Amino acid sequence: MTDSITIALSKGRILDETLPLLKEAGIELVDDVKKSRKLVFPTTDPNVRVLILRATDVPTYVQYGGADLGVTGKDVLMEHGGDGLYEPLDLNISRCRLMTAGKKDCNAPEGRLRVATKFVNLARRYYAAQGRQADIIKLYGAMELAPILGLADEIVDIVDTGNTLKANGLEARELIENISSRLVVNRASMKMKHQGINPIIEMMAVAVEKRRASE
Ligand code: AMP
Repeated sequence: MTDSITIALSKGRILDETLPLLKEAGIELVDDVKKSRKLVFPTTDPNVRVLILRATDVPTYVQYGGADLGVTGKDVLMEHGGDGLYEPLDLNISRCRLMTAGKKDCNAPEGRLRVATKFVNLARRYYAAQGRQADIIKLYGAMELAPILGLADEIVDIVDTGNTLKANGLEARELIENISSRLVVNRASMKMKHQGINPIIEMMAVAVEKRRASE
């Protein structure tokens, strides 16, 4: 019997960059994802369906077996913690940096730091590993405002060009991690459905390698 496989993809930029890789693995969405309000999409492979989720929900769906495979950013995986997941492949897409940032020309204070971020778990681990005491303040967006309005001494956020920081009077301080999107697999699915899953991982790995070689 052929395994039925569910793949959870992250909306937005990661989706746009993942679809061509999936296509090279022989999996194409039947509908135009941009024009549909559906959340579950059939594909050209009758055994494979795709869920379109918020990036932060992808590890949770894969962890609990709602999806067998998923694609999301390393930042999201680090925040989630990675329980119940294998991470077999770096897709080398949606690359950016996870950084600390603060007000321009203004050093971080010596003592206890206040840090605003949406990555609270990750930030807590990072400052603890640095031996720095930090109070972490959870925000859901517009992190860049926090140092300007005196809410926090630093933020932990995603930086690509650095334009968002600059436009808000901030500068990057330390690099926490280089980020790219990763393929993740539910641990039980990896064992039970390896016949369906392994070829997808292998074909996506070939597609990633081909791109890397042509960069
Ligand atoms: P930039 O101004 O180019 O440094 O972009 C920074 C903003 O874009 C941040 O607020 C991020 O939330 C968002 N961003 C940039 N790259 C990514 C990415 N690969 N994944 C998720 N968000 C990103």
